[in-house]
Amino acid sequence: MVNLTGDDMRRFRGSDEKNPFEAMSERFDRAAKLLDLEEDLYAVMRVPSRELKVYIPVKMDSGHIEVFEGYRVQHNFARGPAKGGIRYAPDVSLDEVKALAAWMTWKCAVVNVPFGGAKGGIICDPRQMSIGELERLTRRYTSELIDFIGPEKDVPAPDMNTGEQTMAWIMDTYSMHARHTVTAVVTGKPIALGGSLGRREATGRGVLFVVNEAIKRFDLTPEQTTVAVQGSGNVGGIGAELMWEAGYKVVAISDINSGIHNPDGLNIPHVLEYLNQNKSLEGYPGVKQISNKDLLEIDCDVLAPCATENQITSENAGRIKCKILAEGANGPTTPKADKILHEKGVFVIPDILANAGGVTVSYFEWVQDRMGYFWSEDEVNVRLQDKMVASFNELCHYADKHNVDTRTAAYMLAIDRVAYDTRMRGIYA
Ligand code: NAD
Repeated sequence: MVNLTGDDMRRFRGSDEKNPFEAMSERFDRAAKLLDLEEDLYAVMRVPSRELKVYIPVKMDSGHIEVFEGYRVQHNFARGPAKGGIRYAPDVSLDEVKALAAWMTWKCAVVNVPFGGAKGGIICDPRQMSIGELERLTRRYTSELIDFIGPEKDVPAPDMNTGEQTMAWIMDTYSMHARHTVTAVVTGKPIALGGSLGRREATGRGVLFVVNEAIKRFDLTPEQTTVAVQGSGNVGGIGAELMWEAGYKVVAISDINSGIHNPDGLNIPHVLEYLNQNKSLEGYPGVKQISNKDLLEIDCDVLAPCATENQITSENAGRIKCKILAEGANGPTTPKADKILHEKGVFVIPDILANAGGVTVSYFEWVQDRMGYFWSEDEVNVRLQDKMVASFNELCHYADKHNVDTRTAAYMLAIDRVAYDTRMRGIYA
């Protein structure tokens, strides 16, 4: 059984509140201990299965060669092929990718889809790169990973600063090596290339579905519920728009540079159109301009951090005013902040459930690609709703049964499922 010594704790956890892998490990340790997980399983499950580091030479438009550093971490295969996005950003680090890969394992287990977890990243600034440079970077990265990815091995998807075009390039590069088209090697592809209807909106829609369930616990209707959304990309922008369509009063939204606030509610389609045209929320009329930091602390019923990690920490958790925290982003809250939020009575919909709509429809895309038969958007959305609502209820039931907070319950439920499959397979023997 798990019996951590102080040294173990220090070695595993370190002291950096903002290290995502340590944040993941701390939650994992707590849940494993509460589950009384066998030591052997504990040792297998808390580390990644494989960490790949690649150096990617790319011919830049200027003619010179730049070498980029990239990663793919495959955390766990106990329940099926590994699954997880690829992120392009200047601050990508191996620890971040390791954490994101582990979160994918737990997320797939929470919504009970037959995948393990993986994640990839390249240290680059895509905003400073041309389309041609990004294509060459993506194709070369894919070539480096060719032996490690595939429909039965590891299935990448988009994450921050990657999208349908990136997935199309990966699918094409992989297919060139396979010498036939292999659509199921990635998800989040363009619809015409084997993508699924509803995938683009799936993560934001999943956030909507779990928020719909959570507000019932506070006897609120969408019309009575105010929402603040950090981030206006795939998750935040689409999530905010879907909540606005469903009748929620979205009072604040931001992008990486700044945010806007109007306590009477924002017209989200209009805001997103403005952002699309101006590449900034600055100058949007009739609102108060706020910072990302201010956004997290405004008065609202639902706060949805949908941008990046470490936004709610021990420094600002005491000032968070929402009733419900719907974590659209991965890892937006640190373990120290968890304790403060718990004491304040904030109902947390943890990231590994709240943003699982994306991987759920990625799973649907993989299924459709493999059978070569595609579903209508309504079919996709109904199946997504069934999955998200059932997983939400299962999680709340698990939290009540074990008398733990929802974050701990999510980890316990996930670890329980991965541990069961690992035990049955005997792959750690
Ligand atoms: P995106 O690139 O489409 O959008 C990111 C948004 O966050 C943008 O509005 C950007 O301006 C903003 N942002 C970036 N860095 C920021 C910072 N430091 N502070 C404040 N705002 C910042 O990315 P996305 O796909 O929407 O992903 C957002 C988060 O959701 C990430 O944590 C990602 O891992 C997670 N996630 C995404 C999906 C998906 O399907 N796209 C699925 C599950 C989880």
